[in-house]
Amino acid sequence: MAIYTLPELPYDYAALEPVINPQIIELHHDKHHAAYVKGANDTLEQLEEARDKEQWGSINGLEKNLAFHLSGHILHSIYWNNMDSPKDGGGGEPLAADGVGDLADAITESFGSFAKFKAQLTKAAATTQGSGWGVLAYEPISGRLIVEQVYDHQGNVGQGSIPVLVFDAWEHAFYLQYKNQKVDFIDAMWQVVNWQDVNKRYQAAKASVPLISL
Ligand code: MN
Repeated sequence: MAIYTLPELPYDYAALEPVINPQIIELHHDKHHAAYVKGANDTLEQLEEARDKEQWGSINGLEKNLAFHLSGHILHSIYWNNMDSPKDGGGGEPLAADGVGDLADAITESFGSFAKFKAQLTKAAATTQGSGWGVLAYEPISGRLIVEQVYDHQGNVGQGSIPVLVFDAWEHAFYLQYKNQKVDFIDAMWQVVNWQDVNKRYQAAKASVPLISL
């Protein structure tokens, strides 16, 4: 039985137009994300077989596959919910008037201002070498928000940090519409950020118990 399952999109394929066209959303969710779910499940099965047979010749590859596919599944599951149609409130800045003042304050405390945060995350996502993500994460030891530039789905990550806002910078996320203009895609992404969802994830992350103390 499958351990991981593909979540349904919280909106229809066309909901994020014109920032992301329906064809990209359909392929990205139904094919790419689905492949990571299958990959994570398949790898767990292969690890079980390796344990049963005590055959460890492929252990390095299997552990790498598990990290890759599981992280791909987690990041995409967050990604879909991090976005919403501009007509349903996506975009803009987190504002106290919208009930997300706590997140707005944390961004200001951690980065100096919303503008400085936006510049850092935009730059991190847009300059990712190869395939990867720009990520806003909560770091429980310091209680601060940090920006991470994630390679593939799992590399260059601070252990224990919790992603709350993720920008997919893989070519499959934008190439059909933006061609080689990755910076334009990342710039446009800000028009569909669902700050309510980001704040919800920030509150949950803040309530988590740090793995070590300062
Ligand atoms: Mn992707």
